[in-house]
Amino acid sequence: MRQVLLVRYGEVHLKGQNRPYFLRRLTENVKHAVAPLGAEAWLSDSRIYVAGMADMDEAIRRVTRVFGLHSVSPAWEVDKDYKEISAKCVELARELKGTFKVYARRSDKRFPMTSQELNAELGGDILESNPNLRVDVHKPDHLVSVEIRDHAYVYTGEIMAAGGLPLGTGGRAMLLLSGGIDSPVAGYQMMKRGVNVNAVHFFSFPYTSERAKEKVLELAKIVGEYGAGMKVYVVPFTDIQLQIHEKCPDEMGTLIMRRYMMRIANVIARRDNASALVTGESLGQVASQTIEALGCTDAVAELPVLRPLISFDKQEIIDIAERIGTYETSSLPYEDCCTVFTPRHPLTRPRVDAVAKAEAALDTDALVKAAVEGTEVVLM
Ligand code: ATP
Ligand code: MG
Repeated sequence: MRQVLLVRYGEVHLKGQNRPYFLRRLTENVKHAVAPLGAEAWLSDSRIYVAGMADMDEAIRRVTRVFGLHSVSPAWEVDKDYKEISAKCVELARELKGTFKVYARRSDKRFPMTSQELNAELGGDILESNPNLRVDVHKPDHLVSVEIRDHAYVYTGEIMAAGGLPLGTGGRAMLLLSGGIDSPVAGYQMMKRGVNVNAVHFFSFPYTSERAKEKVLELAKIVGEYGAGMKVYVVPFTDIQLQIHEKCPDEMGTLIMRRYMMRIANVIARRDNASALVTGESLGQVASQTIEALGCTDAVAELPVLRPLISFDKQEIIDIAERIGTYETSSLPYEDCCTVFTPRHPLTRPRVDAVAKAEAALDTDALVKAAVEGTEVVLM
């Protein structure tokens, strides 16, 4: 008898003909997550199993971060023999108080008792040995679960996992990563849908400091740990910002700056084989995030721009940032390039043609080319 981690997958269930591909990738990702613990993982009969780890808590911590999974349960693997199953149920139920119900699933139909018979018999055995418990089939405090598969598995708890789709099944995207709260969360949300994410950061030295850059790299490291690490392209942005400030109308400054970010991110994304850009924008949060302003930035982005936070309130974003561990770093007080030359009265309903006209004062191709050529790559 040994303890295993029984792993349930989530939305992959809904896949049709592609399901084997998604499951293979998901199983590989679970294997990869537990390999450092010396554990193995395998797929069998609509579950993934993990076994051979000395530290169950660490295995749970690692596996619940794998995207595409619904939940996990530390379970005892016992022989498909009623006496053994009952003994384990009784042992696990010894520590419970309040109400319970047995929930048996017989997936191996060769087992001689039906699920209903198991529920009734095992429930009786548990009640007999633990007088503190009562049965409640509708809203029990505790579920004692039994699954009859290639072995019998007995467990009492279920821990929720990250959800989403297996990393690597959603292609590649390039995240525009600032030092703020939103963009790291946006990167996480895309990874959760199976997308491999690298990042581009616009850096306006000396208006923004070396420490501001370190903060962004630290954020990339934290978010990258949910996937396969993160490459950060650090783009020199000072020259572009100074020229915009000098030659373009103040009320369009932020918008024009954002259009340059999109153009440069596009070039870098294509070189990185990414097929979309990702930002942390949320509708109406600031002047550059109205529908009209987003239209002006999209007009120069050739690749699709994905905005996973578009409908999120700030507090909802903060809640995720806290949960994934980026909030503290994001809250460090270093400046971002967006805040350096912020116009006092930015346009909230800009028109693309007017913005494009104002931009004509700049040599766009040369500016973009110089920025791309000066880009530094950091692997986090
Ligand atoms: P965040 O918390 O992500 O900084 P924000 O609400 O402060 O978001 P803005 O500063 O307006 O928003 O930026 C909107 C989006 O533009 C960010 O979510 C990010 O995707 C991108 N962005 C802003 N500044 C930078 C930067 N210096 N480098 C890369 N991307 C940036
Ligand atoms: Mg910002």
